[in-house]
Amino acid sequence: MTGEPALRLAAFFAVFAAVALWEGLAPRRALRLPRPARWSANLGLAASSTLLLRLLFPAAAVGAASVAAERGWGVLAWLELPTWAGAAIAVVVLDLAIYFQHVVFHAIPVLWRVHQVHHADLDFDVTTGVRFHPIEAVLSMLFKLAVVAALGAPVLGVLVFEVLLNATSMFEHGNVRLPAGADRILRWLLVTPDMHRVHHSTRPAETNRNFGFCLSWWDRLLGTYRAQPRAGHDEMTIGLAHLQQTGTQNLGWLLRLPLRASSGSYSLGARDDQDRPDPH
Ligand SMILES: [Zn+2]
Ligand SMILES: [Zn+2]
Repeated sequence: MTGEPALRLAAFFAVFAAVALWEGLAPRRALRLPRPARWSANLGLAASSTLLLRLLFPAAAVGAASVAAERGWGVLAWLELPTWAGAAIAVVVLDLAIYFQHVVFHAIPVLWRVHQVHHADLDFDVTTGVRFHPIEAVLSMLFKLAVVAALGAPVLGVLVFEVLLNATSMFEHGNVRLPAGADRILRWLLVTPDMHRVHHSTRPAETNRNFGFCLSWWDRLLGTYRAQPRAGHDEMTIGLAHLQQTGTQNLGWLLRLPLRASSGSYSLGARDDQDRPDPH
């Protein structure tokens, strides 16, 4: 599909600009770090991941979908559903698959080393939503290719999912103020910024909640949902407890972080002693 990279890039810039503007007009929290250095590190990491993916997988997941369609691979091909129904199912199943992938990135220490680059951000804003280490981007793409082939996901479904995943990731990391009523309603369908911010808390009992990316259903159905952070959105600490030094997180530091000796000390099994039932 020749227009796919251009379409995805246009969607990225449009959503990025919209969320960044919203952050400027109605921010949720005061940022701890100055924007220029943090943004150049986060966006530099995102650009590195995107370039590596284009180099290794020029046709991306959409390419895998067209190969699967040509060869009649996958469960959806056997069911012979109309394209729109197949595409809708593919979007939902891919979102569930990414939920499980996210849990696995927390559960396995060597994968957590890589994924903690996302969590080490000391602030939470639109650029956190694209801050993923190139190794995580490559592993995630390999997993998506496998799911797309096994599912026989239609090209349309994969394209919609890729654009949606990128857009919702920037939205749910937005440092934006959403009225409580709107958050509550939207949260029945989508992961909202307040819902995902819980996942960026330094408290392990909160880091290991709200793994969903697009639909909020999986956390609710699978018992990993937490409505609010214990300390509240203004008082909670963002990031990882062992990486709270400011001024160190440039692009080189982010790329090297998975190799640091102290990186693998935490995984899904970690508990914090103040973990009590959620009062909400
Ligand atoms: Zn995570
Ligand atoms: Zn996140």
